[in-house]
Amino acid sequence: MISHKSAWMDEELEIFSGSVAKFFEREAIPHNERWNREGKIDREFWNKAGDAGLLCVTIPAEYGGAGGDFRHEAVIVQQEQWLHFSGWGNGVHSGICAPYILAYGTEEQKKRWLPKLATGEMVAAIAMTEPGTGSDLQSVRATARRDGDHYVINGQKTFITNGQHADLIITVCKTGDIGGGAKNVSLVVVEAAQAPGFRRGRNLDKIGLHAQDTSELFYDDVRVPVENLLGGEEGRGFYQLMQQLPRERLIIALGAVAGMEAAVAETARYVKERKAFGKALLDFQNTQFVLADCKAEAVVARSFIDDYVVRLMKGELSPEEGAIAKLWACETQCKVVDKCLQLFGGYGYMMEYPIARMYADARVQRIYGGTSEIMRLLIARTL
Ligand SMILES: Cc1cc2nc3c(=O)[nH]c(=O)nc-3n(C[C@H](O)[C@H](O)[C@H](O)COP(=O)(O)OP(=O)(O)OC[C@H]3O[C@@H](n4cnc5c(N)ncnc54)[C@H](O)[C@@H]3O)c2cc1C
Repeated sequence: MISHKSAWMDEELEIFSGSVAKFFEREAIPHNERWNREGKIDREFWNKAGDAGLLCVTIPAEYGGAGGDFRHEAVIVQQEQWLHFSGWGNGVHSGICAPYILAYGTEEQKKRWLPKLATGEMVAAIAMTEPGTGSDLQSVRATARRDGDHYVINGQKTFITNGQHADLIITVCKTGDIGGGAKNVSLVVVEAAQAPGFRRGRNLDKIGLHAQDTSELFYDDVRVPVENLLGGEEGRGFYQLMQQLPRERLIIALGAVAGMEAAVAETARYVKERKAFGKALLDFQNTQFVLADCKAEAVVARSFIDDYVVRLMKGELSPEEGAIAKLWACETQCKVVDKCLQLFGGYGYMMEYPIARMYADARVQRIYGGTSEIMRLLIARTL
């Protein structure tokens, strides 16, 4: 691995990082191939991760979490990439859904849901995207109509991470007029076990992230108690989503940096071993130059994103910076991984080589969490 000690790491985090790596090596890596074939990880893995204290690390202990901060989340994301374990949707569960409930939930909602997310008794998902709308979130068509003490939800979602395993789905709905835009968007929590009319569709066949259960979800007259409206006030959903974006985008960017580091390490190993024309691939100047560029890009990305981690910790990271981080880190990751793959020749195209999986996995980084084009729009608005 590229040796670099992030400014935000300390001794406690180093120890935590080591224990995360050991946990993955013991509980995930031996099953990784099977999970990739089966299209999802074993459900029990979530409970094991909960027992090991790896779920909801940023959630305070009074709600069952580990009482850590963003850096603990970052450590987990990095280890996933370094160990080529891309199938776990914990970034959504612990990095997005639990913080939403912590930030906006009523006291009753936090006590009801967070402890279960922290143990893995419940797996969480966030359902924004619909077949007809992704980037333009204000145009969601799922509705939650008030009927006495309940909301009645109708609609369809797609591309939802953790969709097959999820027990708690934060669902983006319109509580008012469908055409009403942002002011009518609300987040309603659907508990799958208590929601007749809620149905999971296909576990979608993707070009990468094969062990992640990315799914369609259907809601047909799903009745949920009004107490499940996140924060208890209608029309706050869009604001709630926007508030969390810098943090979410930085998590994706960190994954991109660690992904580049893993690709460079994997490729450096390979080109030292593989021979062509009587010498190691690394002995060709082209190989040296290409890998030197890749390493330089990974190091620059690391230094840049580490700075933003520190800014986030101080509460200073702006939405624009979140967009810059995601745009640049994810675009650079795709370029770096592509150059690395080239150095593997035909083996780089074979899924049994980790670089092939990294290549396929990296591609979505420019799409989910807001596409690169949407990041550019956000940045351009600040020019
Ligand atoms: C593996 C995976 C996991 C995902 N997980 C989740 C999840 O857990 N929850 C969830 O809700 N969603 C999830 N998504 C959905 C993801 O967030 C969306 O796919 C993404 O936001 C883009 O929306 P879209 O697919 O509808 O594309 P569209 O919005 O239709 O965009 C199509 C193209 O048009 C471009 N475009 C759109 N608007 C503009 C504009 N104004 N200017 C310039 N270009 C524009 C886009 O950049 C893109 O290139 C996931 C997607 C994938 C692939």
